[in-house]
Amino acid sequence: TIILGLESSCDETAAALVTADGRILAHRLATQEEAHRPYGGVVPEIAARAHVEALSPLIEAALADAEMTLDQVDVIAATAGPGLIGGVMVGLVTAKALAHAAGKPLIAVNHLEGHALSPRLSDRTLQFPYMLLLVSGGHCQILLVRGPGDYARLATTIDDAAGEAFDKTAKLLGLGYPGGPQVEKAATQGDPKAVPLPRPLLGTAEPHFSFAGLKSAVMRAVQSGHHSTPDIAASFQQAVIDCLIDRTRRALGQADGITALVVAGGVAANQAIRRALEKLAADHGLPFVAPPLWLCTDNAAMIAWAGAERFAVGLIDDLTVPARPRWPLDPAAEKARGAGV
Ligand code: ATP
Ligand code: MG
Ligand code: FE
Repeated sequence: TIILGLESSCDETAAALVTADGRILAHRLATQEEAHRPYGGVVPEIAARAHVEALSPLIEAALADAEMTLDQVDVIAATAGPGLIGGVMVGLVTAKALAHAAGKPLIAVNHLEGHALSPRLSDRTLQFPYMLLLVSGGHCQILLVRGPGDYARLATTIDDAAGEAFDKTAKLLGLGYPGGPQVEKAATQGDPKAVPLPRPLLGTAEPHFSFAGLKSAVMRAVQSGHHSTPDIAASFQQAVIDCLIDRTRRALGQADGITALVVAGGVAANQAIRRALEKLAADHGLPFVAPPLWLCTDNAAMIAWAGAERFAVGLIDDLTVPARPRWPLDPAAEKARGAGV
């Protein structure tokens, strides 16, 4: 079984071909970073137009890389949300057209499920259920991953996402967009103890996250003029690590029967964060699984793979399936939204 996956929810356009047993036959990606850089963040209108221009050539290139035609593809999967609705529409409408024209099943993939299942694409031995720290540009959550479409959200952020905090810190430090990799690079030259910064929610009973106060403290540190950029970057990164580790340790203490501690999402590309989580997992006698860096940030292989996992358990969608700007993985969490988290 061969799955074509499409991704267009933020600022990367991507197409990939993956087999049901986890072989990546082709993966193509076009990033829009240059187009958005002058604005210091993603501009939705620019993004949507760029996805329109990039997507068809990427699909053709992926098919050419794998030396196959659309006829040989068995399933079409595309991100259907959450994300910037204009971009999501581009990918989903394209997938619907291809599925309709070629008579193939369509799978509408939750982008977060793409991140959540990506570790099973890179490590085919990873079994359900596992504890997942999902850290990305728009999300910071701890999830119990029980299977495709079967998630329990144990924690989330009450304000900013982890990647958002990296991006805002980069902006405050004048390091440019996208910020995560720049902050990580600057941090290697700095002292993580140089700048006293808060660790919001540390030690609280529920393993939720908060990064807004940290961002404000970074702003004050920048404005004070007393600290170097590398010292602020290193101290910020250490504060984020301390929060992620404390909260994940708390969640691990509340769960049993899990097979591994897993990290996914763009922020999982950060080496210092990976090292800290690896140690936490070892302390709990658990294997630690993190996808290779290119599978952490947005890509279409993870969408094709989520499509493969859903297809395997019969989760196929109708051509009328809508694009969704918001789409929590855990339906109970969706209902609890009024409660603030
Ligand atoms: P979401 O998946 O929540 O919809 P997104 O798709 O925009 O958001 P991803 O592509 O998964 O997010 O991740 C991008 C985020 O990861 C950005 O905030 C970026 O700064 C951050 N990031 C990327 N590399 C690193 C790194 N090395 N260290 C820290 N953060 C990083
Ligand atoms: Mg991106
Ligand atoms: Fe993402």
